[in-house]
Amino acid sequence: MTEIPHHDIIRHLGHRRTVIGEAPGRVNLIGEHTDYSGGYVLPTVIPQTTAVAVAANADGASRAWSASVPHDQQQLRFVVGEEARTSTWVDYVQGATAVLRAAGHRVGGFDAVIRSEVPLGSGLSSSASLTVAVLRALRDLFQLHIDDVVLAGLARRVETDFIGVPVGVMDPIACALGAANHALFLDTRDLSWQLVRIPSTAEFAVINSGISHSHATGSYRQRRQECDAATRALGVHEIRDLSEYGQRRIEQLPEFLRKRARHIVSENARVLAAVEALRKRDMARFGGLMDESHASLRDDYEISLPQIDRMVEIARAQRGVLGARITGGGFGGSIVVLTLAGQAVRVATAVAQAARDELGLRPQVLVPPTK
Ligand code: ADP
Ligand code: MG
Repeated sequence: MTEIPHHDIIRHLGHRRTVIGEAPGRVNLIGEHTDYSGGYVLPTVIPQTTAVAVAANADGASRAWSASVPHDQQQLRFVVGEEARTSTWVDYVQGATAVLRAAGHRVGGFDAVIRSEVPLGSGLSSSASLTVAVLRALRDLFQLHIDDVVLAGLARRVETDFIGVPVGVMDPIACALGAANHALFLDTRDLSWQLVRIPSTAEFAVINSGISHSHATGSYRQRRQECDAATRALGVHEIRDLSEYGQRRIEQLPEFLRKRARHIVSENARVLAAVEALRKRDMARFGGLMDESHASLRDDYEISLPQIDRMVEIARAQRGVLGARITGGGFGGSIVVLTLAGQAVRVATAVAQAARDELGLRPQVLVPPTK
């Protein structure tokens, strides 16, 4: 649980009645680049969370304060009922009231104090963790009748409708419905989901390469277009609809479309196998599937980089490691490593050290939290 220091609450909310909403960040364990073709994904929550304290404010001028941004940006204003995009972080707060109002909920003015342990912009979904936490706080403050499933949908709309970024369904669902020590098995076609326990024999580490990527630009968008092109060429609604027989048609596609389609088919199968492995508590098998996922993302989907491949290799060479792969959209970003229980801190530290010394990168251990 993220503590909001008492003095911050007093300074910004005074002695008004205060309620707190909270939500974790997330990391995707397997099922990469499958969420825009109705496929399967398997994220889990991370220990870091975002906490949002809110108190009603009837004077028509709301304020939000966050400790996670540069000093001159920490306090921003907005007006509930007249939400207008500002292209600053306060859009994640006023976007929440905009979507709540659009959905017919009555919300009044409020002030908010935000504290997050989720690193911003590192692929651990600080944004969905923030929107879910804000919505939870407002649900409590204004006594709204919304369950977490509906709330996840509203959180998504904050980003897609109010802020205008085309985020997928995985992040808000993982942050709203995920639970510690569980993987969330999500079918992105019909949004059915279930929590599958992660055996206590294993643990995950996430290391950011320090190579930054931008989803809005070039390559990520290109992969989505290639996925659409492959789907059209195969004459199906979604690649997942291919029958076993139909899958042979993939081999007749032009080379790069063939590779893209092959990744999506094999990755969806790997998610199903990974869920099976979790249920059987076979974490060695789970690790092997992560390794295969990485190879597929490297060779067929071509979203990795040589330095990331090397980090994955370094991770696999550590004692106690069961598997490793790139996680997130690719072209930089982070790797996720499966280790035996109690080994994640040591492994993550060793991988970061080697990435620094051997590759000249500026890596950062994101999970387990260092403090
Ligand atoms: P990610 O979700 O992978 O961390 P995004 O680019 O989707 O990256 O979201 C990061 C943005 O979300 C930040 O630039 C900021 O605008 C907003 N944000 C997230 N967490 C906070 C926070 N604790 N305080 C203020 N803004 C935040
Ligand atoms: Mg985000």
